Amino acid sequence: MIPFHKAKSIVQKHLFTLGEETISLNDAGGRVLAQDIIATFPSPLFDNSAMDGFAVLSRDTKDATPKNPVTLKLVGVSSAGTPSDIELEEGECIQCMTGAKIPHGADAIIMVEDSSGFSDLDKVQITIEAFPGKHIRNCGEEIKEGERLIQKGTPITPSEIGTCATFGYGELTVYNKPKIAIFGTGDELVEPGNALCDGQIYNSNLYVFAELATRVGAEIIMRDVIKDNKDSLRAFLSHAIETCDIIISSGGVSMGKYDYVREVFMELGVNEHFWKVAQKPGKPLFFGTGYNTLIFGLPGNPVSSYIGFMEWVWPVIHTLTRQPKPEPLTAILKKPFPREDVKYRFLFGKAWMEKGQLVCEPSPKVGSHMLTSSLQTNCILGTAQGDGPLKPGESISIHLLPWKTVK
Ligand code: AMP
Ligand code: MG
Repeated sequence: MIPFHKAKSIVQKHLFTLGEETISLNDAGGRVLAQDIIATFPSPLFDNSAMDGFAVLSRDTKDATPKNPVTLKLVGVSSAGTPSDIELEEGECIQCMTGAKIPHGADAIIMVEDSSGFSDLDKVQITIEAFPGKHIRNCGEEIKEGERLIQKGTPITPSEIGTCATFGYGELTVYNKPKIAIFGTGDELVEPGNALCDGQIYNSNLYVFAELATRVGAEIIMRDVIKDNKDSLRAFLSHAIETCDIIISSGGVSMGKYDYVREVFMELGVNEHFWKVAQKPGKPLFFGTGYNTLIFGLPGNPVSSYIGFMEWVWPVIHTLTRQPKPEPLTAILKKPFPREDVKYRFLFGKAWMEKGQLVCEPSPKVGSHMLTSSLQTNCILGTAQGDGPLKPGESISIHLLPWKTVK
């Protein structure tokens, strides 16, 4: 059994960098940019109208009021996507819609509300005086050509997608998703939706793994529940080692008679870096590498598997996909926390704001087989070993479950 922090630093040493790929803008949400996004043109790209109305020479509208309107001759139309090529002259106006190019010669837009309106007549009455530039969105006023809009390494959210689309990027270069294999082991496991026989249970861990892996940005390319026999394990794992960046198992790494996973890893030439970490739950954690694959063997108990994924696998995928690291958080305990004397201790818990302070309490269910202890929680509380339980009022480190909020 090795200390928790030592195990963490061993994992850290074996991380590698993933390649890049170019994908459609449509598929880029949630990925991380592997390129800078540069403005290939100024924005707005051309002077255009901010209002539906009339393009005018502002000096023609001097002293115009509703009682004393100025009459201009209508000589054309500029609509969004169909500019007018007419050069505006004194005493003239052109219908000009929102987003339409400002006609040559015009220096202001009169809103349609400040005129006699759109009609078939060739005369328009203007009821307000305009100043040069009124209701005109100027070329380059938002962004200059060549400006860096988004930095390489930025996660792609709706704002980035919209900005890339605005500047015409149909494809983006992003960091690859790690390809992962997830598997469960156990003769007792039955897929949800089927009837259970005596002594059987439903496989829940792979459903949790699949959900977590997808949320953190991995691509699941192999997934299976494998019986407790070496041949099936060997067949699955030899293929997974060749094709995946990360392999994650649930079960089969404990001390049981049929816990073959570690043995088969060794037979396949996997380099074992540690097996058994001073933590609870999830002591029999296996970490190894084979070719270019990181291998995590998580124990089968559902809470050990879930917390093991969140504390060991999630941060690795986060790092490989270059997502920004969340700030470490601490919260004040409202209830005692069962600190261990030699092991790092994790429990699901609830954190909330109280009088401007982040406070928390562990789930009352502490068994590593009690997956429902994760319901109605929003974080994992964790503390290094120490003397006796942590008391209310003491602080503890918390990892928020990234899809939850703190109220
Ligand atoms: P193991 O690590 O294989 O000794 O399994 C420890 C406990 O976790 C046993 O009670 C198993 O039945 C249970 N278990 C193993 N795999 C799963 C799974 N995929 N889903 C739910 N429970 C599991
Ligand atoms: Mg088992």
